[in-house]
Amino acid sequence: MKPTLVLVGRPNVGKSTLFNRLTKTRDAIVADLPGLTRDRHYGHGKVGSKPYLVVDTGGFEPLAKDGIFHEMARQTEQAIAEADAVVFVVDGRVGITAQDKEIANKLRKLERPVLVAVNKAEGMKHTVVAADFYELGLGEPFPVSATHGDGVRDLVEMALADF
Ligand code: GDP
Ligand code: MG
Repeated sequence: MKPTLVLVGRPNVGKSTLFNRLTKTRDAIVADLPGLTRDRHYGHGKVGSKPYLVVDTGGFEPLAKDGIFHEMARQTEQAIAEADAVVFVVDGRVGITAQDKEIANKLRKLERPVLVAVNKAEGMKHTVVAADFYELGLGEPFPVSATHGDGVRDLVEMALADF
């Protein structure tokens, strides 16, 4: 059985871009429009000789109770239930948001590995970027760049270390 890596995070942090890099496809919808990916996308990836499944999710809106935001939250929760490891994607340029904190609160209760991927970190000082996101209480954050590829391999190797 391939381990399943699930990408979660608020809209526009770069989940779909990371999905595309991990699966080397253009399957996920990448756009400047936040929340465009409203469903889950599944793809196959490989790190070294280790295959894995990767799941891209839409937004994560714990505050909204109805409509599309509720649906996205539901999809994300379902995807998390299927996860062997969760990659929580945040935006290194924006910093921690209230929504990030809410997601972190949920993820801290999970009994599964959760890695914080600090995306859009190209050209930024990695030690500084990582330090900012320690506050989420999910361990050592991994600075990555989904568009450039920096740090992505290390992230996946760490996420799948137990599989
Ligand atoms: P999602 O809503 O979390 O799936 O985010 P997307 O993958 O659709 O990306 C949202 C925006 O962030 C797009 O304009 C991407 O091109 C941009 N983006 C994604 N990854 C990176 C990155 O590593 N660096 C920078 N600078 N921009 C990125
Ligand atoms: Mg997306």
